Amino acid sequence: MTSFDLPPPNLSEPEIQALLIAHYGISGQVTMLASERDQNARVDTSTGSFVLKIAHCAEDENFLDLQNSALSHLEAVGLDGIPRVIPTLAGRAMALAEWGGHVSWVRLLSYVDGQLLSGSSRTLAQLEALGRYLGNVSKGLSSFGHPGAHRQGFMWSLDEAGACERFAEDIADNAHRAMVVGLFAHYRLHVAPRVWSLRKSVLHQDANDNNVVVDAKGGIVGLIDFGDMCFGSQINELAIAMAYGVLDAPDPLAAIRTIVAGYAAEFAITEDEAELVFDLMRMRLVMSVCISSHQHKRFPENDYLLISQAPAFSLLERLDRLDPSMVQAVCRKAAGFDATRNFRAVVSHLKTTRISALVRPDLRDRPRLLVGCHGAAGQAADPNFDGLPAWLEELRSEESELFAIRPHSETRIADGANADIEPSPPLGMDLYLPAGTQLYSPLSGTVHCCTDGDDKDDDFTVVLRHQTPLGVPFYSVFSNLGTLAPSLEIGKLVQAGDPIGFTGALKRQDGRARHLRLQVRTDHPACARAIDQGQLAAKDVWSQISPDPNLLLRLAPETFEVDPHPPEAVLAKRSERIGPSLSVSYQRKLKIVRGEGAYLFDHTGRRYLDCVNNITHVGHCNPRVVEAQCRQAERLNTNSRYLHDLMPRLADRLVSHLPSPLSVVYFTNSGTEANELALRIARTALNQKDTIVLDWAYHGNSGGMVEISPYKFKRKGGHGQPDFVQIAEFPDPYRGRIKAHGRQAGRDYAQDITRCLNAIKARTGQRSATFIAESVSGVGGQVFLPQAYLQTVYELIRADGGIVIADEVQCGFGRLGNAFWGFELQGVVPDIVVLGKPIGNGHPIGAVVTTPELAGKFANGMEYFNSFGGNPVSMAVGLAVLDEIEARNLQSEALATGSHLLAAFKELKERFALIGDVRGSGLFLGIELVRERQTLEPATSEASAIVNHMRDNGVLISTDGPHDNVLKIKPPMVFARAEADRLVSALGAAFAAIGQAS
Ligand code: PMP
Repeated sequence: MTSFDLPPPNLSEPEIQALLIAHYGISGQVTMLASERDQNARVDTSTGSFVLKIAHCAEDENFLDLQNSALSHLEAVGLDGIPRVIPTLAGRAMALAEWGGHVSWVRLLSYVDGQLLSGSSRTLAQLEALGRYLGNVSKGLSSFGHPGAHRQGFMWSLDEAGACERFAEDIADNAHRAMVVGLFAHYRLHVAPRVWSLRKSVLHQDANDNNVVVDAKGGIVGLIDFGDMCFGSQINELAIAMAYGVLDAPDPLAAIRTIVAGYAAEFAITEDEAELVFDLMRMRLVMSVCISSHQHKRFPENDYLLISQAPAFSLLERLDRLDPSMVQAVCRKAAGFDATRNFRAVVSHLKTTRISALVRPDLRDRPRLLVGCHGAAGQAADPNFDGLPAWLEELRSEESELFAIRPHSETRIADGANADIEPSPPLGMDLYLPAGTQLYSPLSGTVHCCTDGDDKDDDFTVVLRHQTPLGVPFYSVFSNLGTLAPSLEIGKLVQAGDPIGFTGALKRQDGRARHLRLQVRTDHPACARAIDQGQLAAKDVWSQISPDPNLLLRLAPETFEVDPHPPEAVLAKRSERIGPSLSVSYQRKLKIVRGEGAYLFDHTGRRYLDCVNNITHVGHCNPRVVEAQCRQAERLNTNSRYLHDLMPRLADRLVSHLPSPLSVVYFTNSGTEANELALRIARTALNQKDTIVLDWAYHGNSGGMVEISPYKFKRKGGHGQPDFVQIAEFPDPYRGRIKAHGRQAGRDYAQDITRCLNAIKARTGQRSATFIAESVSGVGGQVFLPQAYLQTVYELIRADGGIVIADEVQCGFGRLGNAFWGFELQGVVPDIVVLGKPIGNGHPIGAVVTTPELAGKFANGMEYFNSFGGNPVSMAVGLAVLDEIEARNLQSEALATGSHLLAAFKELKERFALIGDVRGSGLFLGIELVRERQTLEPATSEASAIVNHMRDNGVLISTDGPHDNVLKIKPPMVFARAEADRLVSALGAAFAAIGQAS
C-alpha cells in the first residue's frame, strides 16, 4: 500500500490541541498548513512557535527517523535555518497518534521564522544565496548516512527520473507531451548512463520555493520539509533548487549561472556534475509535470496537484529555446571550469601548430580596414553601413590587396531599426574580401558538413573537423562562401592549404557587404547552429566555446585596434620635437610597433619582411635575448666599477671567436664609441694622430668619427678632409679603377697606401699611422674588397710601425656565412677589432678587442672609464646573442640562404637590365642598379622607386653606396628560405613595375 492509496491525515483542531498537551505539554494557537501528503499545523505558544507534523499513516518509522537524524546532524554541523526536533514529554523524537481509525507518527519541530521564497519575487542575489545555502546543505549531508535514505522505488528520487516516463502519456496537452517525450529520450541516451558515476549522499531533495525560507529583506535563511529525503546524486540538490529558483526568472541563463556559481562557491562540484546539472534540472520539472498529471488523473478534485504545472511547462518551453551546449558551458563556467572540456587543449594546440594561409597572399602581409564600432571615427567602418561594398572597392583601387576585417567579440552597433535588440557580438571573425577570392584550409582535417545557407543570397558553409595530436576534436567553420570547392564531401580528408571554396560577391542582395565568417569551435557544432551570436553577458563563456579565430590567421593584435596616434600625427609631432637631420625612411612613412624574428609590424598590424636590419642579428625580440635582458634587469644593472661575473664571461666568449693575439676586451655602448676607443688606443700607442681611411668609409656619428668618415665629411654639410686624415683609394671591383676581384687587383689598389704614408711623412716627418677599414664595405655599397688587398695594406702599414683596425660593426658575427669575421675573408689578423650592432641585437653595446701589447701601451696612466659600457644587462644580452648564434647555427644557415638568394638575384639580373651587379656572401648582399651597364651610370632614382615599391608590397630594403644606387640586403640572420623567396618575388614585381614605368 502506498501513500497514494490512502487519504492524508485529517485531524481536527481540538484533536491536535489534545495531542500537543498529551505529548509535549504545550498549548497555543493552531494554524493548519497546506500539505500534499501529511498534515502539518503551526503552533504558536507563549514560549515559541512550532510545527506539528502528523505523518501519513503509511509513513515508515525508519524514514521519519532518517529525517530526525538528518536534522540533528545538520544542526550539529552548524547549518542555520533548519527545524530542530522537539522531544516528547517521554523524551522521544516521535509519538503515535490515532485518528479516524488510522495511526500516524507525530513530530514537533521548531518553527523556522520567516516567509516562504514563493511569496517574494526572485533576484539574482537571492539565487546566488540560495545556491550557497544548498551548497552548505550538501556539504553538511556529505558526512551523514542513514539506512532509511535508501528508498527503493521512491518516485521523487531524481536519480530514478526515467521511472516517470510512463506518466508522460497522462499529460493532456499534445505539444507539452511531445516536448516531455523528447526530453525523456534525451535523458535515456545522454544523461542516465552518466548518472551512476556521480557522487552520492543523502539528499534533502526538495528545495522548492515553498520549502525555502526568506527573511523580511528576502535573504535566504532556512530550509524546511525534509519529507522527500533519499539517497542519490549530490548534484540533484542543486538541480532541484534550480528547477524552482529559475521558474519565473526573466533571463533563465543568467539565473542558472548565478545559482550554480553560488552552490559551487560553497561546495565544489565536479566536471560531470556541472555538465549534467541542466539536464537534471529539466528532468525535475519533467518529473513534476508527469507526476502531477498522473495524480490529477487519479484525483481530479485535488487542484493542488496542478498548481505547479503551468509555470513548470512554461519554464520547460523557455529552456527548450536555449542552446543546450551553451547552457552546459554556462554551468561549467559557473562551477569554475572552462566553458568546454576541449577549450584549453585546442587553444594551446592552435597557438603552436603550423597554419596555412586562408587566402593568398597571406592576410598578415596585407593592408587592412577595420570594421566595427569601436575606435576613432573615420578609422573603423560601420558593419551596417550600406556603402561599405562601394567604399571597399574604392579603397582597393589604391591598395589592391586591402581587405576589411571585423574582429571576434566586436560589439554590434544597434542600428536604428533594431535599437531594442541587445547587442550580440558575432562568435566568429568577419572578413570582407574581393569576390572570387580563393580560400584554403588553414589546417588538415575532415569535412564535417557543408551546407547551403538559408538566406536569399544562397551562401554556403563548410565545417571542418580537426584534432589535436592527443585526439581532442575541434572544428573550423567557414560561412557565407560564394562557392564550395567541388572536391568537398562529408568525411573527406582536407590537407592544410587545400582549397575549400571561393568568396561570393561583395555586395549582398540587401545592399550590405558580404563577409566571410570564420569560426573555431571547441564543442561539437550542429551545422544549423554553425553561425551564432554570443550574448554580451556570457562573453567569457562563448569566447571559450568559440575562441578567437585569429588562432587560424595569426594577425598581429594591432590589426584589431585603432591607433590613436597614426603615422601622420607622429610625424607632425616628431617634426616639432626631433631635429630635422634625423631622417625617416620611405615615401609613405611607417610606424613600426612590433617585431618578431625577421618581421616588423606597423600600427595596423600589417607585417613587413625586414630585409635590412643587421642590428637585430638573431631576430627581432629574440626570446632568448629578451629573457636574458629582463632577468638581469630585474636583478642588477650598474656601472663597471664593481666585480661582476658577466663582463669577463662575455669577454671570454668573444675572444674564443677571435684569432690570437686578439685577447683583451673593452666594452662600449655603440659602434661609434668603440671606433673612438680603438683610435684612442692606436693613437696613444703610436703617439700620433694620423689616420688612413678608405674613400666612402663611415665609422660613426661622433665628431671624431665624422672627421675620419669621407662618407660624411666629403658630402653635403661636411667640413672637408682634416689634415691628419688620408683617404686611400676605395678598392671597388665593380665601379673602381681596377674592375677585378683577384689578388693582383688587391695589390694594385693597396699601392695607394704608400701615397698616403708619404703624405703623412711629409706632414709629420714620420710614416707610422693608424689604418682603419671595414673588412667588407657597408655604407660604401656592399663592396667586397679584392683579394690580397688587406694583406698588402697591413704589410705596408706595419712596415712603418703603424697599427691596423678592422671595423666589423656591420660584417661581423657570422653574417658573411663563410667566415665569422670579415677580416678572415682576406686572411689577415688586425691589431684592433671593433664590434657593434649585432653584438647586442638592438641593445646598445659595442666592444674593442686588441692585443695585450697594445692594451699595455694604452694603460699609460689615463683611466678609461665608461659609465654604462660593460653593464651587467648589456653583458647578459651579449652572451645570449652568442648563445643564439651558436645554438641555431646561424652562420651556416646564413651561408645557405645567402647562396640561394645570390642565385636568384643573378636570375633577376638576366631579366632586368637595370641590375648592373649582384654581389655578396651569406646575408650581406647588394644589388647595384645602373642605367647603362657600360657607363655604370648610377640608377639612383630607380633604386629609390624599387625600395618604395617593395615597402608598399610589405618588404623592407634600403639603398647604400655613394650614389645611393645599391639595394642593400642584410636581414636578421633568422631569415629563412620562405622569407628569401618572398623577397625575391617582391623584387621581381618591383623591377617589373619600375622597368615598365621607366
Ligand atoms: N662602423 C660602421 C661600419 C657602421 O656601419 C656604423 C653604423 N652604421 C658604425 C660604425 C657606427 O655604429 P653606431 O651607429 O652603432 O654607433
